[in-house]
Amino acid sequence: MSARRDRILAEIGVRPRWRLRDRATPAARPAPTPDPASLAPAARTGDGPELELDDRAARIARMDWPGLKTAVATCEACGLCRTRTNTVFGVGDERAEWVIVGEAPGAEEDARGEPFVGQAGRLLESMLAAVALRRGENVYIANVLKCRPPGNRNPEPFEVAQCSPHLVRQIELIRPKVILAMGRAAAQLLLNTDASIASLRGRLFRYQGVTTIVTYHPAYLLRNLPDKSKAWEDLCFARATMKDLKAAAAPQS
Ligand code: URA
Repeated sequence: MSARRDRILAEIGVRPRWRLRDRATPAARPAPTPDPASLAPAARTGDGPELELDDRAARIARMDWPGLKTAVATCEACGLCRTRTNTVFGVGDERAEWVIVGEAPGAEEDARGEPFVGQAGRLLESMLAAVALRRGENVYIANVLKCRPPGNRNPEPFEVAQCSPHLVRQIELIRPKVILAMGRAAAQLLLNTDASIASLRGRLFRYQGVTTIVTYHPAYLLRNLPDKSKAWEDLCFARATMKDLKAAAAPQS
């Protein structure tokens, strides 16, 4: 695996390697503390007009996996259906402990119908490998939007409002232990906030009762290499948090 990882990292020019170290949490990081300000599950409170539980969202909220996949594949709720090649539903273990949420498909994802298969995806895979995770194994990867915005522009609020019930349902069906929200679109949707990624990092939030951690989007990291070390801290924090959650859930002997 390390030879493969080395190849991936060489290909995307990532140095130093993302390596799992003994240190479980970043040295300067305070112990995980739930953030009371963040306990509101955005998609269920109706706080944002875009997330009100209207009839369509209520229907989606009752779907099983096959129904949800069909709903996404045939969705025409926003204009992105006119320019997409494929919908990009999400991929991975439907019983995963980890859910990774990105923003929206790019050109390669649109062509292949799978999330994070382009350059950002290669970085994501190396980041996952750094915390001993592999695509498809105990990880589910999904985006806020299931269709590509033309030219990779930012998602419009209307598009997020129409599409987010799909992600909400995916998370409900998976019931992960930890959600890693990568980038602004994911953090803003799940935490119902306009705050910057910088201000949200290193804190524990709850979304639908699931511990949620925010970090930079891999595409951002490709453009801002110095922030990779911060993303590394976030991954260590996430990994330590998962360990703590599992220890707390384990039967006492
Ligand atoms: N960026 C994302 O947010 N998602 C993808 O699937 C690809 C790139």
